[in-house]
Amino acid sequence: MDKVVNLCKRRGFVYQSAEIYGGFRSAYDYGPLGVLLLRNVKDAWWRTMVQLRTDVVGLDASILSPPEVWEASGHLSNFTDPLVDCRNCGARHREDQLEDPEVCPNCGARGQFTEAREFNLMFRTQAGPVAGAGADVYLRPETAQGMFINFANVLNTMRNKPPFGIAQIGKSFRNEITPGNFIFRTREFEQMEMEFFVPPDEAAKWFEYWCGARVDWYTGLGIPPDKLRLRPHGADELSHYSAGTADVEYLFPWGWGELEGIANRTDYDLAQHARHSGADLEFYDQQADQRYRPHVIEPAAGATRTMMAFLLAAYDTEEVRGEARTVLRLHPRLAPYKAAVLPLSKKPDLQAVSEEVLGLLQPRWMTDYDVTQSIGRRYRRQDEIGTPYCVTVDFDTLEDRAVTVRDRDTMGQDRVPIDGLVEHLGAELGL
Ligand code: ATP
Repeated sequence: MDKVVNLCKRRGFVYQSAEIYGGFRSAYDYGPLGVLLLRNVKDAWWRTMVQLRTDVVGLDASILSPPEVWEASGHLSNFTDPLVDCRNCGARHREDQLEDPEVCPNCGARGQFTEAREFNLMFRTQAGPVAGAGADVYLRPETAQGMFINFANVLNTMRNKPPFGIAQIGKSFRNEITPGNFIFRTREFEQMEMEFFVPPDEAAKWFEYWCGARVDWYTGLGIPPDKLRLRPHGADELSHYSAGTADVEYLFPWGWGELEGIANRTDYDLAQHARHSGADLEFYDQQADQRYRPHVIEPAAGATRTMMAFLLAAYDTEEVRGEARTVLRLHPRLAPYKAAVLPLSKKPDLQAVSEEVLGLLQPRWMTDYDVTQSIGRRYRRQDEIGTPYCVTVDFDTLEDRAVTVRDRDTMGQDRVPIDGLVEHLGAELGL
């Protein structure tokens, strides 16, 4: 864990937010490499969940929302964590996360906790210049409600018929009592959620389907199956809206942690919004002459948390000819750069060909360009940030118009003509 956190900072993946002011606790900024990796995680999700399907459409709803939405969804009254304070040291804990409900993990005092209080996790702010109850708005604690309140809009404009889904990626905000474990739990984070609307009698079938499909997504992008599990919730764990939930969990260095929750939300949300808003949130099936309120299966994943799992799973060290090599074995789809062009020397004629090669690759893939230090060190630098292929331009290139393509994982090298390079890399990357 420490090694990965260290690499994240050293190589520009993740920085502590407001570091020059001493750091803003539990908030992180994504650096030049991190923004690429995070974007690739989100793009991979969108590709699987929207692009490669005919039954899911996208949405980007607003982050600020009026209290009515959260009253209807149940978040104003239910989205709370039980909070206890230690009378001895003043530390605040989530009661449901204490290893021993009597003992303060901060100071070790026994039996010093206050009565648990329910603490609402939503961030409240105000819209407009005048404070007051009428101006209260909330930062969304999940993206899901955007899909429910736009259900009728999407239905009317896209002519969908259940089973169909609405997918969204975006920021969510929760005033977590105990943020921590790097970017695993932060107060501002990104989610990738999809609401899949189905005829009520098909809900069980689709719940099973999405549990399987979501596990496959993680393993398909390189999470080892033995570090992933699907854990059904017990009855006492279920959220206020859920008729069944299973979590996709990853084996983090501190134990199993949730990456994604797949929930059978029944028609809870549509029913609540219909009641509170007066809108008609039913579907009329013309063929069967039937009107019904769809049930919803929701795979809800965290983009930032998932990025951390991909980083941890990819991190590897090995010894090569007596030297330590750190390598991020990221799936090519996730790797920040797909290739790096490395001229063997700074000589102008080598740089000219190198820029020509760069010009071939850049329009297709994020490509790094690095001219400094020895070639061995440059390979190691690319290994450490997960670049699948290094393309080296050497003096022979000037004669034979071919380059050396080095594979990150095997360190094997191929001589490839510049004319066939795009095709070669395309096939190797499989993108
Ligand atoms: P947890 O039990 O870890 O608090 P949750 O069950 O409340 O999570 P959901 O409401 O199901 O989480 O949200 C779906 C996904 O959003 C989670 O699986 C996780 O990946 C992500 N997520 C939720 N809260 C956070 C957070 N504070 N920081 C980062 N990601 C989060």
